[in-house]
Amino acid sequence: MTHDPQNVTVLRGRVLTFLEQPQGHDDTASYRYIEDGAVVIGPDGKIIMIGEYKPEAAAHHKVIDHRPHLILPGLIDPHTHFPQMQVIASYAGNLLEWLNTYTFVEEQRFADAAHAERIAGLFLDELIRHGTTTAAAYCSVHPQSVDAFFGAALERNMLMIGGKVMMDRNAPASLCDTPQRGYDETKAGIAKWHGHGRGLYAITPRFAITSSPEQMEMAEALAREYPELHIQTHVDENLAEIEFARELFPNLPDYLGIYERYHLLGPKTLLGHCIHLTHRECEVLADTQSVAVWCPTSNLFIGSGLFDRDRLAGHGARIAVATDIGGGTSYSMLRTLDEGYKVLQLRGQRLDPLASFYMMTLGNARALGLDDRIGALAPRREADIVVLNSRATPQMALRMEAVDSLWNELFLLQTCGDDRAVVETYVMGRPMKTGLES
Ligand SMILES: [Zn+2]
Repeated sequence: MTHDPQNVTVLRGRVLTFLEQPQGHDDTASYRYIEDGAVVIGPDGKIIMIGEYKPEAAAHHKVIDHRPHLILPGLIDPHTHFPQMQVIASYAGNLLEWLNTYTFVEEQRFADAAHAERIAGLFLDELIRHGTTTAAAYCSVHPQSVDAFFGAALERNMLMIGGKVMMDRNAPASLCDTPQRGYDETKAGIAKWHGHGRGLYAITPRFAITSSPEQMEMAEALAREYPELHIQTHVDENLAEIEFARELFPNLPDYLGIYERYHLLGPKTLLGHCIHLTHRECEVLADTQSVAVWCPTSNLFIGSGLFDRDRLAGHGARIAVATDIGGGTSYSMLRTLDEGYKVLQLRGQRLDPLASFYMMTLGNARALGLDDRIGALAPRREADIVVLNSRATPQMALRMEAVDSLWNELFLLQTCGDDRAVVETYVMGRPMKTGLES
């Protein structure tokens, strides 16, 4: 393919992209790092090539010089709730108290389309500010929230996964649909938004507690009709929640068994939390190749528990990592992995910075089944890119004076970095963050 050279953009900087899951801190074969690198982006917003920077590029193309910063694939957040922006930092003792006191109250406001539109736009701007270019988000029960979310994503040309939560019990009446309405509104949302721009619709039964057996059957019918769609829900987050779910479906072996019973498990299923799994649940998770989505800031904040990565990995389960806004406390994937590191420290497990940066990028792209489009800097990938500054704050700049390797630099970024470390966020080759701040 040839491109008009005037419309080709070259990002110059320290380019880092993963090729495989790192197997330890000295696994240099797992990534590609180019000290004076170039990411060449075509007018269609896709990457043409990456390689060493060549000075002659400046004669033909627009060059944006990001040295000495790191250029990485855009960060990916596979579990978040956009209607919970104003729930972050709500004081509660546990999950069910937090849901009933704050979240279910706040989500009722999304019946108002104007409110939903305002928050959806602010949500995506906040993701851009934090270097996140793709997320899998829960909307509220209202179709207007779905329209607001995908409409805002379309305006920004962002690859976003989302869906209306299906919920028909154990919540305020104004947040409940019915099995038929949940089905009809989901179907309408799929027709309107799936594949529109870069939007991908996800079938979203909120969790077993808020869906009756009849609604679970409707979710099953949708999953059968649309096997290409993601399914997102929650499982095994909190002990009281597990007990309640099991009381509601008494004849099934365990919590995950509920989703198994309605054929909702598989490689496109994203299961938030997965903290308190039985041995059988670990096996089902691995057998179905469903994805366990670890949400460390949320699990610590709500006090739900410590994710056992090594146990799940030992079973061969697929694992992703996410913010879970607004149970989570930061939009930043850097903050998220910092808290993840601490969770694993308490478990006696290690989280290497190479593994962290792999998870935020290619690992989460693979978990979403989107690694042919995003998560790596490579030819024909969509140019969703983040530029990170390891000297973003005075204390980081001082600490960097004593950093002597990329590995150490990544660990500093993960431990101390946040949105201040995000210099620029590109969506399909278009700079988005500086535009927000001007
Ligand atoms: Zn969640």
